[in-house]
Formats: sequence, structure tokens, C-alpha cells
Amino acid sequence: MGCGAIVLFCPLLAVLACICLKHFDGGLLPTLWTFITTHPMEFIVSYAPRPTAGASAAYAGWLLFQAALYAWLPSPIGYGQRTPAGHLLPYRVNGIHAWVVTHVIAVMAVYAGVLDPAVIAKNWEGLLVAANVYGYLLAVAAYFKAHLCPTHEADRKFSGSMVYDFYMGIELNPRFGEWWDFKLFHNGRPGIVAWTLINLSFAAWQFQLHGYISNSMIIVNILHAFYVVDFFINEDWYLRTIDICHDHYGFYLAWGSMVWLPGTYTLQAQYLARYPVNLSTPVAVAILLIGTSGYVVFRSVNYQKDIVRRTNGECKIWGKKAEVIRATYKTEDGKLHESLLLCSGWWGIVRHANYLGDLVLSYSGCAVCGVHNILPWWYAVFMTALLLQRCVRDHSRCLGKYGEDWEKYCRRVKWKLIPGVY
Ligand code: NDP
Repeated sequence: MGCGAIVLFCPLLAVLACICLKHFDGGLLPTLWTFITTHPMEFIVSYAPRPTAGASAAYAGWLLFQAALYAWLPSPIGYGQRTPAGHLLPYRVNGIHAWVVTHVIAVMAVYAGVLDPAVIAKNWEGLLVAANVYGYLLAVAAYFKAHLCPTHEADRKFSGSMVYDFYMGIELNPRFGEWWDFKLFHNGRPGIVAWTLINLSFAAWQFQLHGYISNSMIIVNILHAFYVVDFFINEDWYLRTIDICHDHYGFYLAWGSMVWLPGTYTLQAQYLARYPVNLSTPVAVAILLIGTSGYVVFRSVNYQKDIVRRTNGECKIWGKKAEVIRATYKTEDGKLHESLLLCSGWWGIVRHANYLGDLVLSYSGCAVCGVHNILPWWYAVFMTALLLQRCVRDHSRCLGKYGEDWEKYCRRVKWKLIPGVY
């Protein structure tokens, strides 16, 4: 029931956020109150974003363009982690090229005068509708593909509930042919490349509406750009995170990466474009520094895990030889494998310091919007819920995978997120 509710209500939330900004000055309570007290038909007629032919065509073009970059740009090959059925999959990791090419083309088109820099902001409603339609279709396609033509049959997971399977996914790494990876492409290209473009477009719109770009808008753009560019520079690392290695491909990832990410992670820029916030210089500098330090923690934690696994523990962490537990696990073909659990550096202090850094970064990006409205804090609230739930989910998964070795790690590193607190 929970999964069914998410499938039905999350798209509504994404659309409500858009309505809230356009019609209710960013006020969440008046939006919700009007939503509850107005006849649904009347609400839709008065407020719902409409599809437009132009935005739908542009969205389709965007998907095709990103697909072409994914398929044809030169690419090093990265490897994921061994799947439960024992596959070690190769991936095309050319995301940074795709991001650079896309942004260079966009900037050139703006300078040449053929593209309004605020075009995304001005067509936002039509784009959001198109993204929602595509996100749903993608989730449906993933569900049927998993039943009818799975890529790796033994890596499918059936829960016994159609709704749960639709939501959490059945196939682990659905592919077309040998290389076209549904999950990496959709999680890591159209939505996330668009993230920085959307922010920039709303910054341009703020300029067109108000005649200046606020320091809060600049900080949001900088902090989010750290995150996005970091993602692409370290795309190879992403191949060994929970999204790619453990989460199956259903509505959660398909719709999430196509709608939730570009639609709600950019709410701060969407908000600031209409309602600029001017921070005093000390506050602006403080937020930028705190956000940057969150990013630095996030990156260095993720780097430590990656380097220790890539070098099989033969590396230094904070100047000393990495301390590891050599944990074993069995894949479904009965074979025994070894994996390293890092116990020093960040990973010796708490089990999810990367989530902590991510949260500091998320809250900083929201803090620039001030406390007048709750809506632009959505990203931080969502990330808190997501990452806390991941702490719990990851613990039971790792316990199932490594058994005693995981318990040994947990005895050594007691805290999940904040030492002494959780
Ligand atoms: P991690 O990269 O921390 O991966 C967790 C996995 O790492 C575990 O399942 C386990 O997998 C392995 N692991 C656990 N403990 C250790 C250890 N001590 N040493 C080595 N490996 C260990 O988490 P996520 O994939 O959830 O997140 C990656 C990053 O992405 C995080 O920084 C997170 O903040 C960010 N993120 C951002 C989101 C967003 O929407 N903005 C959403 C989700 C995450 P195994 O042993 O099986 O490899």
C-alpha cells in the first residue's frame, strides 16, 4: 500500500510544488488548503500545468540528444560490482563528456542569440508534464521488459506483490544489447545533466524578471554544480554505489531520476527566480563555506571507500595503511567472494559519513532561500528522509550479505551517522 501510494502521490507532489510557486507565492499551506477544499476538477482546470507541443518536442529531443551522446561519445569502460547472480558488468562512463558537450552547446547557443537562456524556466510546466509522462512510461516498460525479455534472468527479484515489483523494480541491470544500460543512462544522464542547466536557466530568468542575480541564486548554482560535476568526474565510482549495484530498476529509480530529481532538487533555484533572497555578505560566505565543507566530506568519504576497494586495501587512508575487514559473501551460483570493509578514516568513525557530508551540503543549498517559506527546504527534508532510510536499509542488506563479518564491522564502528547520537 505504501508503494502504491508513492506511485500515485509523488507525481502529484512534484506538480503541486510547481503550482505552489506559480500561483501561491511559494506558500505550501495555502496551496494544500486550496487543493483540499477545491473540487478536483476545478483545481485541475485552474492550476494544473498543461502539456505543450513545443515542450514535449523539446523534451523528446533532449532524450534523443543525451542518448546519442551516451552511445557515441568516446568512453572509458568502468565496471560495476559483482551481481548476486555473479555477473561483472562493463559500463560506458562518458558522463563528463556528455555534461561538457551539452553545456558548451547551450552556452554557445545563448551567445549566438538563438537560445533564450531562460527557455527552460519559461517552459517549465510543459517540460514537467512531458517528464512525468516519460517517467511513467519508462517504469511500465521496465516492468514488462523484466517479465518478457530480461537481460539477466537470475538477477531478477520478485516480491510476490505486483505493486511492490513495479515500484522497486524486478531487473537489477536491464540492458538493450550488451552496452545500452537503462539504469546508468536514465539515472545518470537526462535528469542529472539537466540539473545544472535548469538552475542556470532559473538564474537567467531571475535576471530577466528582477534585473539582477541574487547572491543566494549564485550560491545555489555553485553548490549544486559541485555535486553534479563531481558526479560526472567520479562516474566510475557511481557504478559501485547502492543505486547501480543493489537497487532494482522500477518506478523508484525510473520516475525518480526523470522527474523527482530535475523537478524537486532544483526547487531552490525555481523559488529564488521568482522570490529573490539577498543575503548579507557574512551570511552568504558562511553558507558557502559550510556547504563546500559538506561537499569536501562527501567526496573524501566516497573516495576512501573507492580507493580501498580498487587497490584491494593496498593504500593509505589519512596517512596510515588502510585498516580493513576482509568480508566474504556467496553469490547465487554458490561461489564464495571477498570484499573489503574499510574500518579506518571516515569509515572508522561512522558508517555513513558520506550521507552526513551530503546532508550538510543539502541544508546549505536550502538555507540560502531563508526561512520565509518551507517549500525550498524540500530537498533537505527529502534527503534526510532518504538517507536515514538508507542507513536502515543498507544495514539489513549488508547483514544479509556479510553476516558475521558485518556484525564485526558494526561492533568496531558503532555509530551510523553522528557519533554519540545515531
Ligand atoms: P555508499 O556509497 O555508502 O554504499 C553503501 C555500500 O557500501 C554498502 O551497501 C556496502 O555495499 C558498502 N559498504 C558499507 N560499509 C562499507 C565499508 N566500511 N567499507 C567499504 N564498503 C562499505 O552509499 P550510497 O550508494 O547510498 O550513496 C553513495 C553516495 O551518493 C552517498 O554520498 C550519498 O550521500 C549519495 N546519494 C545521493 C542521492 C541523491 O539523490 N542526491 C541519493 C542516494 C545517495 P557492498 O559491500 O555490497 O559493496
